[in-house]
Amino acid sequence: MIAINDLDREEITRTLSELGEPRYRAVQICDWLYRRRATSFEDMTNLPLDLRRHLSKKFAIKRVRLIDEIVSPEDGATKYLLQLHDSLHIESVLLPHPRGATLCISSQVGCAFGCRFCATATMGFIRNLSPGEIVDQVNFAIDYLSHETPKERRQVLKRPFSNVVFMGMGEPLANFENVVKAIRIIIEEVGIGSRHITISTCAIPEKIVKLAELPYEIKLAISLNNPRDEKRKEIMPVAGKFALKEVMAAARYYYSKKKRFLTFEYVLIEGINDSPRDAQEVARLLEGLPSKINLIALNPFPDCPYRRPKASTITRFASLLEAKGRNVTVRKSLGSDILAGCGQLGTLANKLRHKS
Ligand code: SAH
Repeated sequence: MIAINDLDREEITRTLSELGEPRYRAVQICDWLYRRRATSFEDMTNLPLDLRRHLSKKFAIKRVRLIDEIVSPEDGATKYLLQLHDSLHIESVLLPHPRGATLCISSQVGCAFGCRFCATATMGFIRNLSPGEIVDQVNFAIDYLSHETPKERRQVLKRPFSNVVFMGMGEPLANFENVVKAIRIIIEEVGIGSRHITISTCAIPEKIVKLAELPYEIKLAISLNNPRDEKRKEIMPVAGKFALKEVMAAARYYYSKKKRFLTFEYVLIEGINDSPRDAQEVARLLEGLPSKINLIALNPFPDCPYRRPKASTITRFASLLEAKGRNVTVRKSLGSDILAGCGQLGTLANKLRHKS
């Protein structure tokens, strides 16, 4: 059955007008779906009974369901293990910050891109998330934070989250249509502005160009991880398909359309991409492009073949970039003690299921 919460307002309006219903019914339904997180048509008490009955025969409402919540004692980062209607699992992570928390959401179950340092990659690709499954991670978190999270913990967050980043499981640009539709619903119905939404990508140039054509100001983060194609290929197989020359051309195009700083994420891995020469080449690659480099020390996970560099190596890398005039931030990887750090989202639940 089609999930009505995979539809945007325009589609819901069209469906309702086919049933001879006035336009304002669509507004009411969107309110129930994307603000009040109704779980059934019965809840929609301001709709006529026969319309509720009719809709419930035609549509489902598919919600994500909380299975487990793990809070980091170190920094308050919270990992939510969520179950989908077909029993697969995904994860969202809430990352506290004094200036407003960030919710990190998933776009796929598993991932097809096989980055060697990434936990999700070890699951392989299972399926795309639907628009509703993406949006509902945001609605779930809003709901859960306002109603069910104990007050003491809410205070750690200072404010509810204000930013949404696609840095959870999956490659968002490989699920392009559903991600864009989800973003439209998040903007129009949930009320989070496109400037507060970031897409992080292993860099698929044609999709970056497509994203640049959209009328949104979504922030773009590109997972660089190595400044040379030959070396990048060793840790990111996608580099064998798209050369950095194409990636950088797409990134420049994105900047030319949006005029917003780009972010380049760089996971530092000991002995792989952390040398002074690597830093010099990163600086050269990004020359003239208004951007920020986000250095992330590798978060090892069980069976991860790599190690994170020493703190002094990370500092040296950052200083070399700064000396070349680049903007650098060293990301404190929140939640790494609960395996909720970036790229560590690969649930055991899915792995067991997928293997059986
Ligand atoms: N597929 C997208 C989004 C998911 S990964 C992408 O590639 O960007 C989100 C970020 O986490 C990426 O920048 C990725 O390079 C980083 N990452 C992946 N595995 C990591 C790990 N083990 N430690 C630290 N960062 C990691």
